[in-house]
Amino acid sequence: MRLRYLFYFLIIVALLIISDQAAFFDAQSGMTLKKNTSQSLPALSPQLSSKLFEKMLPRHEVKKDPGPYDWLAHHPEPGQTFKQYILSNPSVPDENQKIIYIVRLGDFDQKRDEIISKTATMVGAFYQLPVKFLKSLSLSVVPEDARRIHPQTGDKQILTRTVIEDILIPLMPRDAFCLIAFTSSDLWPGEGWNFVFGEASLYDRVGIWSIYRNGDPHESPEAYDLCLMRTIKTGLHEIGHMFSMMHCVYFECLMNGSNHRKESDERPVWLCPVCLRKLSWALKMDEEEILSRFADMMHLFENNGFSDESGFYHEILGHLN
Ligand SMILES: [Zn+2]
Ligand SMILES: [Zn+2]
Repeated sequence: MRLRYLFYFLIIVALLIISDQAAFFDAQSGMTLKKNTSQSLPALSPQLSSKLFEKMLPRHEVKKDPGPYDWLAHHPEPGQTFKQYILSNPSVPDENQKIIYIVRLGDFDQKRDEIISKTATMVGAFYQLPVKFLKSLSLSVVPEDARRIHPQTGDKQILTRTVIEDILIPLMPRDAFCLIAFTSSDLWPGEGWNFVFGEASLYDRVGIWSIYRNGDPHESPEAYDLCLMRTIKTGLHEIGHMFSMMHCVYFECLMNGSNHRKESDERPVWLCPVCLRKLSWALKMDEEEILSRFADMMHLFENNGFSDESGFYHEILGHLN
């Protein structure tokens, strides 16, 4: 139990809210902090000893120096090499626990419901694992004392800790690798907080994320795409943490930390070669399976009209073939 609270603490630290602005939810690594400098870049070569991952390099961009409000300016994490990852005894799926479960909490209109379904399909392709939905939950499962109306903004909110501990953890199926809840409600993590985008217990591999602040998908086709992309990125990034992947400091990468909305919107929706190597190891993927995953992602982004993202996967496949 103590370990669980340590995880909560680390995550809450990453949720620091300054005045009316909330930091984008991010699970912190908890590793000793060290200033990130370009000196860490020469260490890339030993992590990229596999020829396949080196071949991907031309299509990847080395991590830009952080701006004053960006994640690395406030959380100078040291990164996690491939070797550190495999030595960290990471959580990986196995034959008995390999299903990513998703549950909806609250009412979703037709467009938001569709966004969750598309996100689930994307999660399955990205992590090459089966995805199943649990029966949707009504907001009425959240007890009265875990709800509030924000005194200033009037937003109806539910308390993340109660949802995680009293609702999601007991719901976790035996064959689950992780359980992700998406809610249409706004969230708050406790006294002194305005709101959070989400919260997770990595120890339990359970988390909840809200799409309340992802924009209104009814506004325009662009707003729909933005809401979808935000929902996809949040889901994929946080499931990456459930594989025990820490934040990436080497390249522009899905696993980069993010301190505010602009930074998370600009974060790519793909893994850099270092992080992809970790995932490939965790999933025991061979070269053919890695290429087939790229093809899956390319088609999915193409089908959803995300040409930059499908173009990325198309180019990567070009470098590898
Ligand atoms: Zn994170
Ligand atoms: Zn990375």
